Amino acid sequence: MGSVVKSTNKEVNGSVAVKNPTVVFVLGGPGSGKGTQCANIVEHFGYTHLSAGDLLRAEIKSGSENGTMIQNMIKEGKIVPSEVTIKLLQRAMQENGNDKFLIDGFPRNEENRAAFEEVTKIEPAFVLFFDCPEEEMERRLLSRNQGREDDNIETIRKRFKVFLESSLPVIEHYTAREKVRKIDAGRPVEEVFESVKALFTPKDEKAD
Ligand code: ADP
Ligand code: C5P
Ligand code: MG
Repeated sequence: MGSVVKSTNKEVNGSVAVKNPTVVFVLGGPGSGKGTQCANIVEHFGYTHLSAGDLLRAEIKSGSENGTMIQNMIKEGKIVPSEVTIKLLQRAMQENGNDKFLIDGFPRNEENRAAFEEVTKIEPAFVLFFDCPEEEMERRLLSRNQGREDDNIETIRKRFKVFLESSLPVIEHYTAREKVRKIDAGRPVEEVFESVKALFTPKDEKAD
């Protein structure tokens, strides 16, 4: 008796744990450095990093019924149906109490973008776009050494094609809405992060 029900950010049956979370989409070609820079942003700015690719790979490992389909799509460099990826992203956001998320590698095509908007009603605060020459991305992927089944030259070529045909239009969509912050990602990690930092540091905290 008399127990106090605390008001928290979590909705009982809601689709998102925290109302109106801040979401930054982190986009760029395969090997442009999204994961690397997200790790730095997490450390300095307290965001939670959600990589769509990592969530899909974890889903394969979990033995889910979609596992084989996801594995085949990743091997071919194709984009997994939005329904699957959005469910994983929503679950990860629900399970996390944070109110700031870096969503890395999503939306990867127009279907991803429109479905996420429709289902979650979340608009990104901005879109971080790591712009990197293809030859540099290829070099990085071939020496990534994480045992990924898609880091071979045949799949890499397919992923580059999908990036140009399906992912760049998403970046154009957000460019037209003045949401894109483009970073030259062909430079060393530390230099790229200097540019990234400037975007996350509130204006009144910046040194003159
Ligand atoms: P993405 O998540 O965009 O596919 P990663 O962050 O996994 O890219 O980076 C791909 C590979 O390139 C990794 O082995 C990483 O250590 C390396 N890498 C990342 N950023 C740079 C950089 N600026 N210069 C050189 N190598 C980098
Ligand atoms: O971002 P990452 O390189 O980890 O993505 C690996 C693969 O995961 C992609 O090539 C694609 O097959 C799949 N993926 C997807 N939909 C996303 C993100 C990744 O199908 N939104
Ligand atoms: Mg990555």
